[in-house]
Amino acid sequence: VSSPPLTVGIVGGGQLGRMLALAGIPLGVRCVCVEPADVAPAAVAADVIRADYGDHAALGELARRCDVVTVELEHVDVDALGWLSERLTVHPAPQIVATVQDRLLEKQALRRAGVATATFAEPSACPTGYPGGTVVKRRLGGFDGRGQLRYDGSADALAAADELGGPCIVEEVVPFDRELSIVAARSVDGSVACYPVVENRHVDGILRETIAPAVAADQATAEELVRNLLSSWGYVGTIGVELFEVDGALLANEVAPRVHNSGHWTIEGSATSQFEQHVRAICGLPLGDVSTVGPSGMVNLLGGWPDPASVLALPHAHLHLYGKAPRPQRKVGHVTVVAPTVGQRDTTMAAVRVLMDVRRSSSSEDAVSAPPCPGGC
Ligand code: ATP
Ligand code: MG
Repeated sequence: VSSPPLTVGIVGGGQLGRMLALAGIPLGVRCVCVEPADVAPAAVAADVIRADYGDHAALGELARRCDVVTVELEHVDVDALGWLSERLTVHPAPQIVATVQDRLLEKQALRRAGVATATFAEPSACPTGYPGGTVVKRRLGGFDGRGQLRYDGSADALAAADELGGPCIVEEVVPFDRELSIVAARSVDGSVACYPVVENRHVDGILRETIAPAVAADQATAEELVRNLLSSWGYVGTIGVELFEVDGALLANEVAPRVHNSGHWTIEGSATSQFEQHVRAICGLPLGDVSTVGPSGMVNLLGGWPDPASVLALPHAHLHLYGKAPRPQRKVGHVTVVAPTVGQRDTTMAAVRVLMDVRRSSSSEDAVSAPPCPGGC
């Protein structure tokens, strides 16, 4: 891969593909996605080949049209990526995607790279779980907290694995103080740029909000951890590492071999977004400046979106809608807040939350919360 104009192939055409393609346009980089769904959010900015991720005719077209191929989701057919990698460059390497899509191989690889994780085992080696709390997860295919069963203490791990179906991993529950993550990128020449550590707030196993940067997080340790991983894996592209902070120490929970939801704030909150950084990295271009513009935050729009005009009327708020049909708990957009001060950032984040509560209470499909009570009751 040399200099633009370049064409990047993306396996997947969802919102991450859309934001990657949008980031590529000013750089002279065009994207072509493979996506089986009827509606591909990436179609506004990329050509979309409508086919299964493993469809050979589609992959052949991708190989013909593109200079480099990447992924916007990890649950892809790794054999297809391997087939592509015999014809053109694939970043990150198919072997890395294969490793991180299997929670057992992922945790073993993290440990080999010297990265601490929760205690884990295969169900047969840990049939009664852990007395301090047990999570049984499917090794393959889970996301947004799906494919997991959680117990306060010990558990019948084999029965849980049966219920989940397919191979599973048993993990000890980490009594974390906060969930953090770090997004970083490594280019073809081995240079690395790390964004600030951010704090992530989940509801029902789904990322609800990100606060950037996280207050008083151990940036140096997180950076060392991710730099270690990137170089020992020979990784190229943007990566997201989810972390548990427990008594000040950091444990890695999982790795996303792609741009990450907790890095969406970088579109407005950083000199170079994680999407542009990924395009730069995989195309062999220099990495961009990762200076932060100001205190930032991101609110995921789950299940639907508030009145757009109300969001746009808020100072320091930036609306991103993905063009997806609303469905309960589905990520259909996000709002980024980048403000001159932490106080202004927090005020706008609170206002976005209220707008989402108003939306939820007025929508019949997933009315889960009580009506908002602006006066405080
Ligand atoms: P994602 O949407 O990030 O892809 P996922 O479904 O792949 O999520 P995890 O990130 O492993 O799964 O778990 C989802 C959430 O469940 C975590 O963010 C965390 O809140 C909780 N969790 C998972 N594993 C553990 C653990 N060992 N101890 C404590 N909490 C955990
Ligand atoms: Mg996760």
